[in-house]
Amino acid sequence: MSDPLAATEERRAALADALRRVRERISATGTDPTLVVVTKFFPASDAAALVDLGVTDIGENRDQEAAAKVAELEAGGRRPQRVHFIGQLQSNKAAHVARYADVVESVDRGKIVTALEKGARAAERRLDVLLQVDLGGDDAGRGGVARAGLSALAERVAESDVLDLRGLMAVAPLGEDPEAAFAHLADLHARLRQAHPEASWLSAGMSGDLESALAHGATHVRVGSAILGARPVAR
Ligand SMILES: *Cc1c(COP(=O)(O)O)cnc(C)c1O
Repeated sequence: MSDPLAATEERRAALADALRRVRERISATGTDPTLVVVTKFFPASDAAALVDLGVTDIGENRDQEAAAKVAELEAGGRRPQRVHFIGQLQSNKAAHVARYADVVESVDRGKIVTALEKGARAAERRLDVLLQVDLGGDDAGRGGVARAGLSALAERVAESDVLDLRGLMAVAPLGEDPEAAFAHLADLHARLRQAHPEASWLSAGMSGDLESALAHGATHVRVGSAILGARPVAR
């Protein structure tokens, strides 16, 4: 019987090559972050090939697509160690995300916390949570808590009996200098850690700006297109 998760030989070679180049970019910075490979829009066979290549963490941003992909990976014995949910959350979807995600990086309001708690309890799971911070810029609508709301939201998660506060996530605003945005983020992270030393993760940096994020203390980078290629639809 053929393996439904088998990518073509050519695709596997391309993924291996691109993954190696990204790992080289990371190691050139002298840091050793967790590489979260963002597989949104790409098939489970690609994610399976990446797991075979040693990828431990994958990122997804839409509930339906993510749930189906994780189920396929599990059925094929290729579930990655950690599945990160990195997309904007609606409160009616958050409980469902809690069933399969290990890390939810995009928590930006209390309603989402409550919904994740409900889902985590129902599934008898614990979840690692990152608070997504809005770093400003013109591209509104990418989500994130404003800095004024950050400490209250952190308290809310820290009090939870099923969620573990792990740190912050952010996307550098489009069309702005990522250096300045990541410096600001590092400052917010340092302050958060004074109140919550356990919140040591900083998820920042994507295909185009990972070096800059790592220079500002990122512990997790989320890389999609540099490994999988251009996505079929601009997001
Ligand atoms: C899609 C996405 C990424 C990956 O972006 P690339 O530029 O393809 O590396 C990272 N973070 C978030 C939140 C995303 O939605």
